[in-house]
Amino acid sequence: MSDKDTYKGYRGIALEALKKYGIRVWSDARILTDADTFEGIVLPRSETADGDHIVIKMITGYNVGIRADRIRGAEELGYKEAHYKIPEKAFPYDPKKSRVVLFGTGGTIASRLDYRTGAVIPAFTPGELYGSVPELADICNLETDKLFGVFSENMGPQEYMTLATRIGEEIEKGVRGIVVGHGTDTMHHTSAVLSFMVQNSPVPIVMVGSQRSSDRPSSDAALNLIHSVKTAADCDIAEVMVCMFGPTSDDYGLLHRGTRVRKMHSSYRSTFRTLSDVPLAMVNREGFSYLRDDYKKRRNDREVDIKAVFEERVGILYYYPNMQPDMMDMMVEKGYKGIVIAGTGLGHVNKPLYPALKRAREAGVAVYMTVQTLWGYAQMYVYETGREMMGLGVIPLQNMLPEVAYIKLGWALAQSDDLEEVKDIMLTSINGEITTREPYNGYLVFQGGIPEVDEFVSEIRR
Ligand code: ASP
Repeated sequence: MSDKDTYKGYRGIALEALKKYGIRVWSDARILTDADTFEGIVLPRSETADGDHIVIKMITGYNVGIRADRIRGAEELGYKEAHYKIPEKAFPYDPKKSRVVLFGTGGTIASRLDYRTGAVIPAFTPGELYGSVPELADICNLETDKLFGVFSENMGPQEYMTLATRIGEEIEKGVRGIVVGHGTDTMHHTSAVLSFMVQNSPVPIVMVGSQRSSDRPSSDAALNLIHSVKTAADCDIAEVMVCMFGPTSDDYGLLHRGTRVRKMHSSYRSTFRTLSDVPLAMVNREGFSYLRDDYKKRRNDREVDIKAVFEERVGILYYYPNMQPDMMDMMVEKGYKGIVIAGTGLGHVNKPLYPALKRAREAGVAVYMTVQTLWGYAQMYVYETGREMMGLGVIPLQNMLPEVAYIKLGWALAQSDDLEEVKDIMLTSINGEITTREPYNGYLVFQGGIPEVDEFVSEIRR
C-alpha cells in the first residue's frame, strides 16, 4: 500500500511521527505525550489540515488533535478499516400516514464525518434518514428536498427567499407539516425570517438542528429529528417553531416560537431558549404538553401568505463603551437603509454617537433600538438620554430581540421606502416578536428543566 493510502492526508511532522512509530490511519492506537496518554482510532486528515497534529477519535466520541512534537511514544493496538456509510433503506410508504416534507439546508444535522477526507459531508436522502432513524417511518411518510448544503453562517437573503417560496408551494400542495433541517448557529435568524415571510400558515413549520453530529455517541440529531417530524405531523401549533433538546438530558424537546428563540450556548445540546416568554410546548415520542394556549392552531385550508422579500442594506450595530461615531457614519455613507442598534441597558449609546444618529436620520436611514441584555424592554422614556435619542429619530423596539429586529427590518424595508410605513410594520407584532409583558416565569424558568435549577440551587446551598 502506498504512503498516501496508509497515512491518508498526513504530512509534515505528523506523518513523520506516524511512520516512526508504525501507526496507520484507521488503527487503534495508544499515544503518549509529555502530558498524557490517549487511546483511540487514528483518523485521516483533510488536504487542508496542518501537518502538525495527529487526530484520534477517542472512545468518548470526541476527536482530539495531538501535537506531533509532544509525542514521546506510540503503538498500534489493532487495525480495522472503517467504512462509514449510512445504510440506505427505502422509506416505507403507508397510505394511512400523512405527508411531511423535510427541507435540508445543511448544518450538523445533515452531516456525518467523511472519514476519507476528514470533512463533514451531508447525509440526507429519505433512505439515509430512515436507515439511521427508522422511528421516523412510524410517524409519517417523509419526503426530503435538499435545498442547500451550507453551514448556517452562510444562510442569507437568497436562501431565505428560496426556502419561504418552497414552503409556500408545499403548503399549497397540501402537506401536513414542514420540517427544516438547519445549522444551529443562525437557526434563530431563519426562524425569524420565516415567521415574517410565511404568514398565516395552516400547518406547523418546524426548524431542527443538532449540536453534535450523528457519528458521535452523544448526538442529539436522532431525537431532535424524531421530535420535529412528530411536531410537523401531529402538533396543533401552526407556527414557525424551533424544535431542539429541552433539558440537558434527553427527556423531551421544546418547541420555541420562531421570533422569541435564540441559541444561547455554543456547545450544549439544550442551547435554544425562549427569551422573555414561555416556550410553546414540550414534545416527546408520545406527544405534546402545551405550555400556553395563545398559539395559532392547525387548519385545513391552504391559505398561506408568502412575502419572500429582503433588503440587504441593513445591519446591527452592537454598542460598546467608547464606540466612535464613525462606525455609524460608515454604514450611512455605504448606503445602509436600516440600522438596528443593540444598546446597553434600557437602550443606550454614548453621547458622541448622537451627532451620527442625527446624520443617519437626515440621510433617511431607519434606526431602531434593541437591548443587548436580551431579556427585557428598550425603555427610552426612563432617562433623559433615551428621550434625546428618540428626538434624533431612534425608535425603540420594545422587547424584540436584536437579531429578530435585524431580520424584520430587512423584510420591512424591502416592502416600502416610506419610513412611516416601515415603522408601522416594525411596531406591529406579527408573530410574538413584541410581547406586551414578560411573564413572571419567562425569565429563566420553564427553560428546559426546573428540576435542574432545583438541583443546582440545592448543591450550592450545601
Ligand atoms: N456550524 C454549524 C451550523 O450552524 C453548527 C450546527 O449545525 O449546529 O451550520
